[in-house]
Amino acid sequence: MNTVRIDWSKIDTVLLDMDGTLLDLRFDNWFWQELIPRRYAAANGLSPPDALELLKPKFHATRGTMQWYCIDYWSRELGLDIARIKRAALDLVGYLPGAEDFLVKLKDSGKRRILVTNAHPTTLAIKEQQVGLAVHFDACYSTHTFDAPKENAAFWPRLQAAEPFAVERTLFVDDSLPVLRTAHGFGIGWLRAVRRVFGFDPWHVSAPYSCRPYKRSAVELANSLRPVTVVEVGCGLGDILSRVNAAERYGFDIDTGVIRAARFLHPGAARWIHGDASSVALVIQRDRRIDCLIMVNWIHALSPQQLAASILPLLPRTRYVILDAIDPDGPASYRFKHDFSFLSPFAERLSSTRAAGEPRSLMVFKVTA
Ligand SMILES: [Mg+2]
Repeated sequence: MNTVRIDWSKIDTVLLDMDGTLLDLRFDNWFWQELIPRRYAAANGLSPPDALELLKPKFHATRGTMQWYCIDYWSRELGLDIARIKRAALDLVGYLPGAEDFLVKLKDSGKRRILVTNAHPTTLAIKEQQVGLAVHFDACYSTHTFDAPKENAAFWPRLQAAEPFAVERTLFVDDSLPVLRTAHGFGIGWLRAVRRVFGFDPWHVSAPYSCRPYKRSAVELANSLRPVTVVEVGCGLGDILSRVNAAERYGFDIDTGVIRAARFLHPGAARWIHGDASSVALVIQRDRRIDCLIMVNWIHALSPQQLAASILPLLPRTRYVILDAIDPDGPASYRFKHDFSFLSPFAERLSSTRAAGEPRSLMVFKVTA
């Protein structure tokens, strides 16, 4: 299942977050959750636990705003010289495993490399001093320059005005869910959460919808059937299902991280459920009709027998099935090139639609038996 890896040929610009993506968050966590409460306690004659209790609501109230990231604000608010304390703690700033190697490889790729961080410019300068980030980038931006953090939709057009990039040819990597959601809304084509966030396989990287003709075909075909209830098994991040017009949408995927991400990216668009084809019967009552069952882009990893075992139990209550077939002479990376002959006693093929520029066709079957 490696068909949706990042397609570097379709990417010109790489935007990278700093803390939690390239640099280990342990420094920031320790700094704000331990060191600063300790210093605040010492300065105000409090015990460290009391200081932490006092600070928590202050931290909480500013999350997602520029103030949260502004060390000038915290210096004023807490009466501490945050920059000086940060400089003294420099030794603990470090790369996450693999991050520096990634940056070196990225340099060789010829892509434009942009660091985009919510960190205050002073924090950026302090971390730069310790780990030498700037050498890996064509440009580094602190969102403070733009008066809005990455999780605020206002930020993205401002960045694009300063640093022109084509959204559909841009990869953005971050570890913050609210930030990724805002970038998704702005139309950034390629999004990647650092693995720890969602914990899903890299192949689930959200390939831009516009770059995957088969997704558009699947959506158009499903919509042409005017379904009331749609089920997609192997829904991934929900790019297809979220675009199908139907009163009832159910997306299943065996990857819990992906389901979490789909719920996050498309809240309320569907019921996003952890499971496979056999889970459908557990979730959707047996007397409920499924107007359209979609299983595309991952079924080539299953043998015909395995695929039949997934689909056939659902057919008695299903009207239409949308599947994708890889060309018989398609790439060997598609393990099985299905002809769906196991369906012939139960369903007739209504149409076969080429996915532009891909070795595959989208097929619609009408259940007859
Ligand atoms: Mg981050």
